[in-house]
Amino acid sequence: MTTETSTQPEYSFEFFPPKTAEGAEKLRVTRERLAALGPRFFSVTFGAGGSTRDRTFETVIEIQRDSGIDAAPHLSCIGSTPESISEILGQYREAGIRHIVALRGDMPSGTGTGGPGHFRYANELVEFIREQHGNHFRIEVACYPEVHPQSEDADTDLMHFKRKVDAGADSAMTQYFFNPDAYFRFVDRCADVGVDIPIVPGIMPIQNFKQLARFSDACGAEIPRWLRKRLATFADDRESLQNFGVDVVTELCYDLLQGGAPGLHFYTLNSAALTERIWNNLGLATETE
Ligand code: FAD
Repeated sequence: MTTETSTQPEYSFEFFPPKTAEGAEKLRVTRERLAALGPRFFSVTFGAGGSTRDRTFETVIEIQRDSGIDAAPHLSCIGSTPESISEILGQYREAGIRHIVALRGDMPSGTGTGGPGHFRYANELVEFIREQHGNHFRIEVACYPEVHPQSEDADTDLMHFKRKVDAGADSAMTQYFFNPDAYFRFVDRCADVGVDIPIVPGIMPIQNFKQLARFSDACGAEIPRWLRKRLATFADDRESLQNFGVDVVTELCYDLLQGGAPGLHFYTLNSAALTERIWNNLGLATETE
């Protein structure tokens, strides 16, 4: 495994908290397979408006306990009170967690914006964590090479990202994208405004075209026209789609690492196979080597 001070690229794998016993078992198998690749950490998402609070907690604790690898809960603040955030941070600290992905999050549709007096943006959560816990937690934040969908423009979005860094974020992970130039331009613009934390590309293996198109429309990640057209030609041929997707995403990861990306964060969707194939194509080392 790599260390905090390493200049080698660092890798991380993201999961969502399973809803059923069957899903939990599938995640255990996935996690064991991916642990063999020697990631820097695993992370576990947090449902909109705190809907998975307990499941995120249990999943993170189990991963860290059973794998011995750093596990980072995602924590979103919109719609939460300072008391509830304070309570959950205390529980994580007590359970030995030292790493948090701090987000604003989105409210479940139809439930408004969280109301006055609550946290409005992720920079406020980062500040709150630092005020309450000093440097106990390593804090990751999100950023958007293709611009957050609610942002007026790229410059404003960049300045909002900088606020999170100024508030004490240690590192950032991007929304996924398929155009490496979007990432490299974003990193250059960050450097121009003095953002000097690692910006790790978020990588989405291509499992299913309809699902990917739906996610991408919602989160503002662009599927380039050429790629959308090619993916559409596979229709229900899932195997050919995934084979093609592995080639496309391998090439993307290769370009990113060659261009100096400080690591890769894989959105695994609780499945190991595609991430392992991309990993093997890239010739990345495993912990056992
Ligand atoms: P912010 O950084 O607060 O930004 C949100 C919007 O507000 C942006 O348009 C920004 O430009 C603007 N803004 C920011 N600060 C200010 C300010 N001070 N004043 C005015 N405008 C401002 N969602 C989940 O629900 N659960 C998860 O587990 C989860 N994990 C994620 C992991 C990653 C790596 C990424 C990239 C996203 C994840 N998301 C998750 C999605 C995320 O919650 C949404 O994209 C959400 O809309 C924004 O969250 P944020 O933390 O980036 O917000």
